[in-house]
Amino acid sequence: MLRVIDISEGTSVDGPGLRTSIYFAGCVHRCEGCHNPQSWDPQAGRDATEEELLEIIKYNDFPVTLSGGDPFYNPELVAHFAKRIKNELGKNIWCYTGYKWEYIIENDRFRPLLEQIDVLVDSSFILAQRNISLRFRGSENQRIIDVQASLKEGKLVDITKSFD
Ligand code: SF4
Repeated sequence: MLRVIDISEGTSVDGPGLRTSIYFAGCVHRCEGCHNPQSWDPQAGRDATEEELLEIIKYNDFPVTLSGGDPFYNPELVAHFAKRIKNELGKNIWCYTGYKWEYIIENDRFRPLLEQIDVLVDSSFILAQRNISLRFRGSENQRIIDVQASLKEGKLVDITKSFD
């Protein structure tokens, strides 16, 4: 069972185009100025089954964004769900996390989720680097990463500039 705080059916702020964004409960990063501190609690929101969420994604027929909270708070559960989004619906997946790429790539626990993601927006929100003119990220330190190209090439493929 997944724990979901909110679902946006057609948002334009969590990646290119209109997307179905799913916001998962649980986050360890505690960024100063966090847009949604109630999302830190892993018991926030409500339970949702994979079937329910897949139906919503299918109905809207948009690409998908996984956000939170932090989807990497429950990487095994979210990886299982993300794999179904890919295998059963073939949707492009963006994912937001407070972890840095360099930490994620060294952690075997995160690997199955990482492998399902097309684009990762990484790193904690830093209030001193906040910039409201940035597209798809809140602070200058956050990066937009082509995950599949990065895994293939064995090095970070940073595509942040292509969204400036
Ligand atoms: S990673 Fe995101 S949800 Fe978590 S504390 Fe930072 S801004 Fe808030």
